Amino acid sequence: MMEQEDPEVKGGEGSKMDINVKSRDEQKIVLVIEGADVPFINALRRICMVEVPTMAVEEVEIYKNDSRIFDEVLAHRLGLVPIKTDLESIIPHDECDCTDHCPRCSVSLLLKEKGPKVVYSGDLTSQDPKITPVHDTIPLLKLRDDEEVELEAIAQLGLGLEHAKWQPTTTAAYKTYPIITVDTDKCEVCAKCAEECPRGVLEFDEKKNKILIVDPEECNMCRTCEKDCEVEAITVKGQEDKFIFKIETDGSLSPEEVIKVACDILSDKSDKIITFSEEKVK
Ligand SMILES: [Zn+2]
Repeated sequence: MMEQEDPEVKGGEGSKMDINVKSRDEQKIVLVIEGADVPFINALRRICMVEVPTMAVEEVEIYKNDSRIFDEVLAHRLGLVPIKTDLESIIPHDECDCTDHCPRCSVSLLLKEKGPKVVYSGDLTSQDPKITPVHDTIPLLKLRDDEEVELEAIAQLGLGLEHAKWQPTTTAAYKTYPIITVDTDKCEVCAKCAEECPRGVLEFDEKKNKILIVDPEECNMCRTCEKDCEVEAITVKGQEDKFIFKIETDGSLSPEEVIKVACDILSDKSDKIITFSEEKVK
């Protein structure tokens, strides 16, 4: 049997994972993950970036375009407009049994405007009120007097693996958790490190006449402080099993959704390997 129940197996010295939310808003989440390793965190990061499906314009039918922007450039611009994605209500086009496109796999966004005006992403009218451009203020084209544009854009689910327009994340990054130590025996309190730190991690406390580490999580390990300290009193290291993991999305999905779907994908992949090995072992 391939069942794996011993939590101590991975990594040896206790691999219980501990996750804390450092900050979160509608489009961004920063997590502190302890008890993980680089391959796991990086796999999760890669899946968030390129394997979590999101909506983007894939086909554009241009009926009229009097503007000075070429049809293909306009189609490309439409492709890059982030679109709110409801993963429950839509299926990937290649999994649908329709021949062209249908409401199960595609959402149509209509545009019909007459100049003079600047046409924005907010002028697109979606057939599905849940699937609309994330922002209304992305300029698409400029129409002069009496110029007209009329088109239908078809948005479908896709993966960042195929095209960057389907990447739900604008940032998917991690860094090892910084550990900064100041050796007070060596430190001459010249305060150069606090002055030079570009991230405001260190502070010189005049009253106590010492260097304070005010915000270690902001440290990007540039080691400017280490280089500036002539007496080598300060050291910056990364904690090997602890990470600061940041996901920022284009608004098509929430960062929590991206992480959840990415974990499901990773779990499915692992299940496939387990099933495969079980079948082969028998
Ligand atoms: Zn379909």
